[in-house]
Amino acid sequence: MNYSRWETQFCEIIAVGDEEGLAILHLNTGEGKRVFEISDQWVRDDDFFSEVRTQVDEYMAGRRGDFSLKLNPRGTDYQKKVWLALTKIPYGELATYKSIAKAIGNEKASRAVGMANSKNPIPIIVPCHRVVGASGKLTGFAHGLKIKEELILHEKLMGIYHRLFDAFGPQGWWPAKTDFEMMIGAILVQNTNWGNVERALNNLNGELTPQRLEKLSEDEIAKRIRPSGYYRQKAKKIKAFLDWYAGYGYQIEKVRARDGETLRRELLGVNGIGRETADCMLTYAFEKPCFIVDAYARRILERVGLEMPKEYDASREKIESAIPRDLVIYNEFHALLVQLGKKNCKKNPNCQECPIAKRCSYKKKIFV
Ligand code: SF4
Repeated sequence: MNYSRWETQFCEIIAVGDEEGLAILHLNTGEGKRVFEISDQWVRDDDFFSEVRTQVDEYMAGRRGDFSLKLNPRGTDYQKKVWLALTKIPYGELATYKSIAKAIGNEKASRAVGMANSKNPIPIIVPCHRVVGASGKLTGFAHGLKIKEELILHEKLMGIYHRLFDAFGPQGWWPAKTDFEMMIGAILVQNTNWGNVERALNNLNGELTPQRLEKLSEDEIAKRIRPSGYYRQKAKKIKAFLDWYAGYGYQIEKVRARDGETLRRELLGVNGIGRETADCMLTYAFEKPCFIVDAYARRILERVGLEMPKEYDASREKIESAIPRDLVIYNEFHALLVQLGKKNCKKNPNCQECPIAKRCSYKKKIFV
């Protein structure tokens, strides 16, 4: 047998197999009950598994829902029958042990299905993580419940992302001509709509470089940004932000060279930069992808059925643990959620034409 191992966003993966096909895909989480050891008899051969690795990495990157690989899982006939039924659960959807038992012809065999499920040697590709208890509880997972939860969340979020992207197309945010305009726009948009921000930005026309803005007095900035509301406070914030940016010589490349966590801490230390504003700047100007938990994101994700912690950072970290660390995805995801929030998922939602209605718990509740 050959084997290969590589790191992914969720955990290290170890693939084992031969010419007959892939026999094991071990999720090396360090959790769960699965006992696994690399045998002395196996030969490491990364090239042999290049297609397995490509497809698994595409899945992790949110670009693949189905696999086309030669599989050779070892098990009893019954187990193989259950595993085959698991491959029929669509990406992003969940099944129960009972529904799988029914699919293989014995509705009463939920327990046996559960046993076969736990022995599945090729998780992810044979998606045993999509099977939950009748109450929706995650129950068990051979590689630990944490990764099961992350995989379910990953599929749910990437399913939403792709549906929104297909419906609305690329949004190409942030709506700004320069990175600096983006940063100032992120401060101006606090507590107002984008139309007012545009009017304020127009009044700064010709002054929208840090060097020129630095020379304007706080009063002069306040006068010009009046259409954005809270203009005196926002002028103060812009001055405070400029002081911080001056520490980097107003050179965006120097800011981008820092790590995201350090930058977030620094930005949160600037007067008037809250979590949402900081995360907008980090994502859209400084190329440090962050999930922006604004009112639209929270409303939509809660309505589709995700449990979002009350705290901003806990919600952000939960989502970030499940979606690929890809700047384009973070950039588009936020913009697409804003678009859905404005178009469909308003306080009184217009669910009839919503691109993600099919899997939304809120819609199911109000239209059943
Ligand atoms: S179906 Fe309705 S409630 Fe659900 S996300 Fe769409 S608009 Fe919002």
